[in-house]
Amino acid sequence: MSSVQYVLGIECTAHTFGCGVVSSEGTVLSNTKAEYVPKTGGIHPREASQHHAAKASATIRDALKEADLRLSDVDAVAFSAGPGLGPCLRTGATVARMLSLLSSKPLVPVNHCIAHIEVGRMVTEEEDPLVVYVSGGNTIVSAFSDGRYRIFGETLDIALGNCLDSFARSLGLGHPGVPKLESLANEGRSFIPLPYVVKGQDVSYSGLLTMAVRKIEESDPHDLSLSLLEVAYGTLAEVTERALAHTEKPSLLLTGGVARSPRLQRILESVCQEHSSRFYVVPPDLAGDNGAMIAWTGYLALKEDLTAPIETSYIRPKWRLDEVEVPWRR
Ligand code: AMP
Ligand code: MG
Repeated sequence: MSSVQYVLGIECTAHTFGCGVVSSEGTVLSNTKAEYVPKTGGIHPREASQHHAAKASATIRDALKEADLRLSDVDAVAFSAGPGLGPCLRTGATVARMLSLLSSKPLVPVNHCIAHIEVGRMVTEEEDPLVVYVSGGNTIVSAFSDGRYRIFGETLDIALGNCLDSFARSLGLGHPGVPKLESLANEGRSFIPLPYVVKGQDVSYSGLLTMAVRKIEESDPHDLSLSLLEVAYGTLAEVTERALAHTEKPSLLLTGGVARSPRLQRILESVCQEHSSRFYVVPPDLAGDNGAMIAWTGYLALKEDLTAPIETSYIRPKWRLDEVEVPWRR
């Protein structure tokens, strides 16, 4: 019998229903997804969860087919138990529990934020980076210390991606907002002052968003987009630089959906050059929410017997990353 193990991961925290299969050797065998795109406005949690329920079986079937495995070949079923939107998390958890029951394989709850970090460590093979995790729902600077991923800076209100996506919608740009905003900003020429908010090691984006939206009528959209990105990325770079200096980590890993931003990559890369640190970005197909990152983190947890009985496999919509013990990094 082969000693290679396979874990199937279900991602279902917000806009994406994802299913990934990875091997214990760290190979991504498949990573399929279906994304809910609201017709107008931001994510409607119930509509998103209905979308995920409708897409789940086809997405899982495709993932198994692409991996060339049957459900019975899988050694565990991992799912993102939080943080995220309650209705979406419940749909994902229900699907994962069903797969676990059908296959008689253990169920492994995974923290979504930790999965964004672990998939980055997996592909870069970088052991101990400082991590900048930026997405639609999260903005966190984190480093591993004393058994857990500790937070060395986060947003006090809305996430970076949420701020930029909301502003992009106000400008009438479609989805996804960040790349569209970046294209506009590339034509920007002058800087429009906007509130630059850093409190200790934390950032804040809601006042920045309000002010940027207020200035739409009176401003050139290219200049305004450029200014918003400069301020939003600038505050994040400031707290990242202090975290790098304080933790003395040898490298920086950029992960999460907004990690695909070339502008943010350039800014953080220059911070790393100042500190003689190595700079890594998660590859685009693993940057946004996906099932493979849940599967891989599920495998790491499975090795530590961190499985959950169906009856107590609760979802945790507000589950912070620094609440989780990380025994696989002992
Ligand atoms: P996530 O929640 O991790 O899936 O990330 C979603 C965020 O990624 C949203 O704010 C999107 O606008 C942003 N995003 C999507 N595509 C890109 C891209 N090519 N470059 C930068 N950000 C992106
Ligand atoms: Mg995410």
